[in-house]
Amino acid sequence: IVSTQEVDKWVKGVCRMCGTGCSIYVGVKNGKMVAIKGNVDSKTNTKGFLCIKGMNIWKVAYHPDRLTTPLIRKNGKLEPASWEEALSLIETKFKEFHKKYGYDSVAYYGSGQCTTEESYTFNKIWKGGFGSNMMDGNPRLCMASAVAGYLSSLGSDEPAGAYEDIENAKCIFLTGSNTSEAHPILFRRIARYKKENPNVKIIVCEPRKTQTSNIADLWMPSLPGTDLAIFNGMAREIIKNNWQDNEFISKHARFTQGDGSNVSSFDEYIKFIDKYTPEYVEKVTGCPAASIKQAAEWFAKSGATMSLWCMGLNQRSNGVWANNLIHNLHVITGNFGKPGSDSFSLTGQPNACGGVRETGSLSHLLPGCKPVVIEPWRKHVESYWKVAEHSINPAKAINPKPGFPAVKLFSSLGGENENDKPVKGIVISTTNPAQTLPNLNKFIPNIKNAFTVVIDIFPTRTAQLASVVLPAAFLYEKGGVYGCSERRSFLTEKAVEAPDGTKPDLWIACQIAKRMGLEKFIAWSNEEDIVKMAEMAWNDYTGCTANSEKTLAGATYKRLKESTTGVQWPCPSEDHPGTYKRYVRGMDPIFDDPKKYGLNIPADADMYFYGRPDGKINVFMRDAEPKDSEKISKEYPFLMTTGRVIEQWHTGTMTMRIPETASAHPNSYIEIHVQDAKKLGLSQGDMVRVESIRGMNILPVKIVNMTLEGVCFVPMHDQKGNRMVNFICSDVVDATSGEPDYKVSAVKIVKISGP
Ligand code: SF4
Repeated sequence: IVSTQEVDKWVKGVCRMCGTGCSIYVGVKNGKMVAIKGNVDSKTNTKGFLCIKGMNIWKVAYHPDRLTTPLIRKNGKLEPASWEEALSLIETKFKEFHKKYGYDSVAYYGSGQCTTEESYTFNKIWKGGFGSNMMDGNPRLCMASAVAGYLSSLGSDEPAGAYEDIENAKCIFLTGSNTSEAHPILFRRIARYKKENPNVKIIVCEPRKTQTSNIADLWMPSLPGTDLAIFNGMAREIIKNNWQDNEFISKHARFTQGDGSNVSSFDEYIKFIDKYTPEYVEKVTGCPAASIKQAAEWFAKSGATMSLWCMGLNQRSNGVWANNLIHNLHVITGNFGKPGSDSFSLTGQPNACGGVRETGSLSHLLPGCKPVVIEPWRKHVESYWKVAEHSINPAKAINPKPGFPAVKLFSSLGGENENDKPVKGIVISTTNPAQTLPNLNKFIPNIKNAFTVVIDIFPTRTAQLASVVLPAAFLYEKGGVYGCSERRSFLTEKAVEAPDGTKPDLWIACQIAKRMGLEKFIAWSNEEDIVKMAEMAWNDYTGCTANSEKTLAGATYKRLKESTTGVQWPCPSEDHPGTYKRYVRGMDPIFDDPKKYGLNIPADADMYFYGRPDGKINVFMRDAEPKDSEKISKEYPFLMTTGRVIEQWHTGTMTMRIPETASAHPNSYIEIHVQDAKKLGLSQGDMVRVESIRGMNILPVKIVNMTLEGVCFVPMHDQKGNRMVNFICSDVVDATSGEPDYKVSAVKIVKISGP
C-alpha cells in the first residue's frame, strides 16, 4: 500500500487491529497523523499490503469521543476530575483493600493490545511488588488454550516455525480459523501462494463455508464442538495406510494419556484411535467420510504440511485437547522442523504473544511464559526483581499459587462489603470485558459493584460502569513493542504527541507503583520521557528472560529502532539474526549453549524439544467427546457459533469510530441455514429472538447455505451493544486453560416479526 499523501515524516509502527502484526508507516503532517502506508520490507505483511482496518487506523485518534480527562463516579455519575484526584483515590482504595482484605483483593486485567513494556510493568508491580498473582488479561479469552496446548504437547509456548513456512508448505490445513476475515493479510498471503502454486493443497475444516473455504481444495464441515473426532479420525487413517513417519515417531514421540505424566506406547495409541473410523467420524461430526480420508492423505503425504488455527479451536470447553490433537497429527507425520512443516496457532490480538504470553502476564505465568508453580524459575524472577528487598507484601516473595483466570476473576469481583466476593478492586486496561465476557448478565453487576478503574481511550461499556476512568494515549502517541503470532517483536515509534489530558498506560502503571511504595522497584517510574521509560522497561524485561528459550537479549531498543523487520526470538545476542525455526540444531541458538538455559540437549541431537524433560513431544490420547460443551435439546435445538467480520475488531471500540469500517456490518445478525429457515417459516431480514438458557437477543435473519443444517452463526460485533451475542454465549470454560466456550451454545430461534 503506497500513500500519495504529502507528509512531513513517516514513522515506523505496527497495525494494532489483529494478530497478524502488519508493519506500517504512520504519515505525520503538522504534528498530526494523516496517513498510513504499508512497510514493503515487512516479513509479515509481505509487499506492504494492509487491510481496510490497517489503512484507516490512524483516524481512531481523532474521533470526538476521545476521553481527555479523568472521571470519578460521584453520586452515581462519572464526573470530570484531575489526575491527582483520580490517582489519589486509587491509592487510598488499594491501600485500604490490601490492609483489610489482603493483597489478592486488588486485581489487574490487561490486554493483548497493551505494549510489551506496559504489560511487563503491571505484571512486575502485581506479582513482585504486591506478591499477588491476581492479574490476568483478555488473551485468556482467546489464546489460553493454545498456550496450554503448546506447554502440554511441546513443553514450550508458541509456534516452532514462522509465517514463511506458508511459502514452503505443500499442504496447508486451516482449522478453527476464518483466516480471510480474522487475519486478512495473512490469508491473502496464503491465497497468493496458492494461486502461484495450484498443486499446493488447501484444506479448510470449519463448521461454516466461509470466504476462507473459497481457496480450498477441500472443505470439511463439522458440527460445532465435534472436530476432535476429525483429528483422531485423520490420525487413524494415516496409520491404517502406513503414511506415518516411523523415524520421527521413534525419535520424538512420547505417547501418553491424561495429564501427560504416564507413558504409553504407539500400539496403545493405535488401539485408542481405532474407533475413529471415517464412518463413525462422519456420524459424529457431519463431515463426509471421504473428506476425512482425503484430508489424511494430503496431510501425511505432502512432504511439508502446515496447520494454522485460531479461536475455533481455542474458545472451546475442550480447547486444550483440540490443540493437542493437531500437534499429534504433526508428530505422527513428522511435520516439524522442516521448512513448510509446522503446527501454528495464530494469535488473535497484535500483542497477545509478545505482551501477555511472553511477559507471563496471565495469572499462572511469569516472564518467559513459564508457570508460576515452577520453583527454580520463580526463584530466578524473584532474585532478578529483588522481590525480597522491594515487595510491599510481608511475604517478600512471588506467590507460588496461580491467581484467578478471567472468568473466575470476574465472578469473584464484588463490592466493599466484607462478606462480598474476594476481589474488591480492579484495574482494567485497553479492553472491554463488559462486552467481551461470555454470559454477560452474570458479570456486569460485578464490574459495577467493585472499585473498577478503567484505562481506555474511549468511553467503552466497561468505562461506563467504572468507579474511575483514566484517559489513555493511543499507540502512535506513545510507542512501544508488539510481538505477533510468529515470535516477532517490532517497535512502534512515537509518531505524535498525545492529546492534552491523556497519559500512556506505562506512565499510569508507574504512578500506581510510586504511590503504592514501589518507586525503587519500578526503576523507570522516575523517568519523565515516555520513550525512555519504555526502553528501561524493555531492558528490564529482556534481562529477566535472557536465560529462557524466549530470550530477546539481542533485541536491544537501538536494534529495534533501526530494524524494519523486527526480531524473532530466541535472539540471544545483538549479532544473532533471530530465529525462524525452533528445536532444530543449526537454526535454534538454544542448541549452541543449552546449559545457559538450564537445558541438557544431547550433543548428537539434530532436533530436540527441549521444553520436555526427555526432549520428546507428547502425543496425547484424547477422547473426542465434547467435554462440558452445551448440547442441543428439544427446547434449544440449534447449535450457535460465533466469529468475526473483516471490517470490525473486537467490541468495535475503534472500528465503529472509523467511517470506512463503521458503515460495514456495524450491527449483529444471525446466519441460518436455508432448510432451517424454511422449517421456521423465516424470510431474509425477518427479526428473530435467539435465546439460550442464559440470555437472548433480537436479531435480523440472514439465510445462507454455507453451513450444516442445525448450525447458526452470530458475529461477535455490535455497534449498539444491545444485540451482543455474549449475552447468549456459554461461560463454561476449558478445565485446563480457563478459556470460555464461545463457539458452542444451544439456542432456540423464534420469529417475532417480518423484515
Ligand atoms: Fe492490521 Fe490485521 Fe489488517 Fe494487518 S491484517 S492491516 S494487522 S488488521
